[in-house]
Amino acid sequence: MFDIVIVGAGPAGGSAALFAAKAGKKTLLIDNDKSMTKRAWMENHYGIMEISGPDLIETGKKQAAKFGAELVEDQVINVKKTEQGLVVETAEKGSFEAKHVILATGAVVALAEEIGVKTKDGTEPRIKTVVDVDAQGKTNIEGIWAAGTCAGVSVHTIITAGDGAKVAINVISELNGERYVDHDVLKTN
Ligand SMILES: Cc1cc2nc3c(=O)[nH]c(=O)nc-3n(C[C@H](O)[C@H](O)[C@H](O)COP(=O)(O)OP(=O)(O)OC[C@H]3O[C@@H](n4cnc5c(N)ncnc54)[C@H](O)[C@@H]3O)c2cc1C
Repeated sequence: MFDIVIVGAGPAGGSAALFAAKAGKKTLLIDNDKSMTKRAWMENHYGIMEISGPDLIETGKKQAAKFGAELVEDQVINVKKTEQGLVVETAEKGSFEAKHVILATGAVVALAEEIGVKTKDGTEPRIKTVVDVDAQGKTNIEGIWAAGTCAGVSVHTIITAGDGAKVAINVISELNGERYVDHDVLKTN
């Protein structure tokens, strides 16, 4: 049973996986390798002078893996409610049980629509439909959350990555029963 399964390893999902794994949560990141960010070149991501989309994604996945997140390359085809929580089904690599699922599927909401997650009209350029989430990132289905472009935030890496982190922190806080903060302190001699 994973604490958190994240669908989509773009900036939103990768960032969510990093926070979840670093918080000690059993984390799985599933991605079908169709990120729009793979075509991007960034000169507006705060703290980074310039970076290619593929490098940003690969670094993010490595950061998440460093803290124990498991990565699977596959298409998620279904997410079902069970008595214990949720089951995430993939096209080729089987099913995974989860307490919580974060959808971070970018411009694509096909999976959300397929599994009965409520959607609404998008507001950002070229993003027609997004998942209907509350301020926390919760959808209409208990245990299923959404983050990043698919949750309707502005389509920029700094924002989608931040939104993934925000939603992960909310899930971690719910699992812990108290608000969670992840602060490492600068070591001094
Ligand atoms: C050409 C281009 C240039 C850009 N330039 C900039 C820029 O200069 N600065 C900037 O800030 N932003 C830029 N962006 C935007 C940036 O890419 C997005 O803002 C942001 O990174 C999207 O992040 P995301 O995680 O929400 O989505 P994505 O990066 O698209 O990630 C979503 C992931 O979910 C996966 N997925 C979807 N459905 C499933 C499923 N059913 N099963 C498994 N996996 C699934 C996809 O394969 C994908 O990997 C650019 C975008 C493009 C296309």
